Amino acid sequence: MEQGCDALKWSPRLPKEKLRRLYLTEAKGIYDNKLIDDVGMSLYMRCRDILTVKMAREEKKVRCPVCDDAQKETLIPRSGGRREIIKCPVCGWKIVWEDYLKTVKRKQLNAGGAVKAFETFMRNYENANSPKEKMLSIDRLLHEFHYSVKEQPDQPTRPVGVNLITGNLKSVIEFLDKLTAGEFCAPELKETKDQWDKNLHGFENINWKSIVDKKRKKKDS
Ligand SMILES: [Zn+2]
Repeated sequence: MEQGCDALKWSPRLPKEKLRRLYLTEAKGIYDNKLIDDVGMSLYMRCRDILTVKMAREEKKVRCPVCDDAQKETLIPRSGGRREIIKCPVCGWKIVWEDYLKTVKRKQLNAGGAVKAFETFMRNYENANSPKEKMLSIDRLLHEFHYSVKEQPDQPTRPVGVNLITGNLKSVIEFLDKLTAGEFCAPELKETKDQWDKNLHGFENINWKSIVDKKRKKKDS
């Protein structure tokens, strides 16, 4: 491994099984604090990592992972070159920018058009006063969508679930689609599900077909 990489431990995506268990307990009217905290904190760290990567890439500020582990916030400015050495002035951690990028490759850590969804979840989760409120903020996040940044800001482009749950786009959509199986305790969960159905319908009409077609073409050629 290249120098500096081992300090960058990105939070993994959540296994589907854990979420299934969470929703099955909710359907029975049980708000299992331990399970909710487990899922919630995993999602929280995942969202934080997504925003950390975005800040490093777009705002050119790299959060030092060693200082971060010690609960200290050190943001290291970078100027832009691929071979640039990023060095923490506080603890001395360093990494070549190119190697930093390698650690995030194919990890679904791209914020895309869902920055607001990740930020909102983190804020809501921090402010949640009960296991039920935590559960509702988790549910809202899981059913959020990325939105097209450029042309049509109101057009959902893909579910944020792909950044948060293991599996490919198709399996994550199928999983989220059946997650509640029409059974839930809190009525708010029905509202997010209805909104999800609506968004997914728009998403499928415009994007889903072209994704499937592209995959087919690849297979045929
Ligand atoms: Zn540091």
